[in-house]
Amino acid sequence: MRITITAPAKINLFLDVTGRRPDGYHTIAGVMQTISLCDTVTLEITEPVDHASAGAESITLTCTSPDIPADGRNLAWRAAEAFFAATGRGCKSLSIHIEKHIPAAAGMAGGSTNAAAVLTGLNHLYGNPLTTEALCEVGLKLGADVPFCIKGGAQITEGVGEIMTSITPMPPCELVVACGGEGVSTPAAYKALDALCGNFDPAAYTPHAEELSTLLSALRQGDLTALCESTFNLFETVVLPERPVARGIKETLLASGAITAMMSGSGPSVFGVFPKGDGSAQKALAALTERGIPAWGCEPVENLGS
Ligand code: ATP
Repeated sequence: MRITITAPAKINLFLDVTGRRPDGYHTIAGVMQTISLCDTVTLEITEPVDHASAGAESITLTCTSPDIPADGRNLAWRAAEAFFAATGRGCKSLSIHIEKHIPAAAGMAGGSTNAAAVLTGLNHLYGNPLTTEALCEVGLKLGADVPFCIKGGAQITEGVGEIMTSITPMPPCELVVACGGEGVSTPAAYKALDALCGNFDPAAYTPHAEELSTLLSALRQGDLTALCESTFNLFETVVLPERPVARGIKETLLASGAITAMMSGSGPSVFGVFPKGDGSAQKALAALTERGIPAWGCEPVENLGS
């Protein structure tokens, strides 16, 4: 049995830290949007079984990018093991093939979306033993962004990423995503934020709640200009000063006509939002490509079914 699934990237239209839990995890308030830049994940299982002996006798993983680990460190592989453990299902062999287009360690959920695709794909192949909510619970143990990648579309994300509220997606627009230079380690970026924001003690840091509600009302009204005026990413304050390439990308996007340009997640990828059909997104793509910076033209995706 074989299935091929699209695994789309995400951007953060808003990303703020609201505090730290006693276990050290950061709580966030954010808005994530699925975009059309995607990997594809193909799963093939032989001799599936549905009794509780569970697991795959063998798992193999191939990936078109040599930079991604092709073994048990890969989040897609770990997602398969987590699915088998949660359901008691198994098979003789599982092969996973990832066609990589999403830049890695870039703040675009490259690993998380592959994991989500494996969970969704295996669930489908085994006749949907898990509900979407149960899949999200399994996914959360693999990474904070996995539940979002399972649901997709546009979501307010709170808690450590597990509390999601579906909202109106971005109005029609063009996006350019670019990523140059080394990847950013998300734990290192959080550490820098802790130092800057007094460990997110309520006395030291006030979350940007009003700005978030302005952005949400812009989304509800489908007002692209107002939306672009209220995008926010706290990680920019600690990542951009260290990243001249990302700063340069942001400047190029804005100079080419982006309504706004902002880092996604903990970076260093940067996205620009452009009006549809006026050629400015293509101008930005040409300017970035000329400078040797990998860049992709894409658009928001309303929901994973579309
Ligand atoms: P997020 O936006 O969720 O914080 P990210 O885009 O910053 O994620 P990833 O692309 O998920 O980061 O990559 C982070 C690390 O995970 C990389 O160092 C990479 O080697 C590892 N990794 C494991 N599995 C995968 C996968 N399937 N795809 C991409 N990276 C993976």
